[in-house]
Amino acid sequence: MAFESLTEKLQNVFKNLRSKGRLTEADVKVALKEVKMALLEADVSFKVVKQFIKAVQERAIGQDVMNGLNPGQMVIKIVNDELVSLMGSETTEIALRPAGEITVIMMAGLQGAGKTTTTAKIAGKLKAKGRKPLLVACDVYRPAAITQLQINGEKQGVEVFAMGDKQNPVNIAKAAIEHAKNQNFNVVILDTAGRLHVDEDMMQELIQIKEEVQVDQTILVVDAMTGQDAVNVAESFNQKVGIDGVILTKMDGDTRGGAALSIKAISGKPILYVGMGEKLSDLEQFYPDRMASRILGMGDVMSLIEKAQQSIDEDKAREMEQKIKKATFGFDDYLESMNQMKNMGGISSVLNMLPGLGNKAKDIEGMIDEKDMARKEAIILSMTPKERANPDLLNPSRKKRIAQGAGVDIAEVNRMVKQFDQTRKMMKQMPGMLGGKSGKRGGF
Ligand code: GDP
Repeated sequence: MAFESLTEKLQNVFKNLRSKGRLTEADVKVALKEVKMALLEADVSFKVVKQFIKAVQERAIGQDVMNGLNPGQMVIKIVNDELVSLMGSETTEIALRPAGEITVIMMAGLQGAGKTTTTAKIAGKLKAKGRKPLLVACDVYRPAAITQLQINGEKQGVEVFAMGDKQNPVNIAKAAIEHAKNQNFNVVILDTAGRLHVDEDMMQELIQIKEEVQVDQTILVVDAMTGQDAVNVAESFNQKVGIDGVILTKMDGDTRGGAALSIKAISGKPILYVGMGEKLSDLEQFYPDRMASRILGMGDVMSLIEKAQQSIDEDKAREMEQKIKKATFGFDDYLESMNQMKNMGGISSVLNMLPGLGNKAKDIEGMIDEKDMARKEAIILSMTPKERANPDLLNPSRKKRIAQGAGVDIAEVNRMVKQFDQTRKMMKQMPGMLGGKSGKRGGF
């Protein structure tokens, strides 16, 4: 996984900081020097590292240490905030026209970056959102590229428009858009030709497509394993062709991760998605805040939760009710009930569904901490399937392992297990809570 070595180094720096009661300016400077080395070794561009350290230093030194706040933690928070801001702060979606119109997306990238694979991955995402995408084979130099797109399109259940290798890409794109109009497709994704290196012909071809076809979004695919090269490629494509966003592939490999940290700062364009494997489902939305927690070794809890969420459905909810009634409710079910609560519109709507709470719902809502829930989920996700199914297995050594896996204190694991037991008891006492006459379901 990317960032392993960076995370390890940053954690060491922070461990040293945390062990100090007070931080002097010199302490901060020494720590930041180590952060700087760690970032450079992770292949983050020198210019970016310099700006980053300056920003952190100004905030860390200029700040009064507030009463009750651990100064080490404050530095970590500042580093975290600055990492998030370096990566663009907000999550950026691919901008689409309304469903009644056709959005044209042009995919660009060097050969081998993962462009054709990513094109099919994107089509799958758009299809899941209810769009009707059409993939277009514009790489006329490599016949294998057309076949590859056709195979991937078939796997995704998405039509591929191809005219062989005798037409020029502009004509193919125009014909594809015509076809899309006639057949009610609403997203046209052009898979263009790559080259081994940035070269003038490739750029000209992309520029020409843009001149003659109304391209709404130009997305560049770059390989995270190539580190700073990926950043340079993004910068030159943006200067010459103009891009709207970047997809960073092969983040599942042992890349040092620098590209993810430098692309936005250098090219000015956001990372939209990251490729996490060769399978067509291995594409994740890019969240700067989650990536920062991943880099700082705080785990990427939210992404794990989202994965769990994708598999929740009505049948599972019904199954869960039966489990509660039969008292075989385990941690997996607990996790699912938390996720289900989110799917149902968050805590307040769930509380409102519970009978007999009335005005108390607001008070309870105030007491529930969403972050605390995220930590609980991390704890559960660090358990083995057996432990989740059978909470009685949790002895102290298992709890210790789970705490380490989730990056929390063992006390927190104990607290959660206790709360889980209480919830289980409460649920058993409230048989009418789930699926009452009104059909409303609480689930937590
Ligand atoms: P193109 O030449 O840019 O169209 O690249 P391809 O789509 O043919 O991909 C080149 C290679 O990279 C293929 O073996 C892909 O399976 C692989 N690949 C693409 N994206 C990822 C990714 O996110 N992770 C991993 N591990 N491999 C990827």
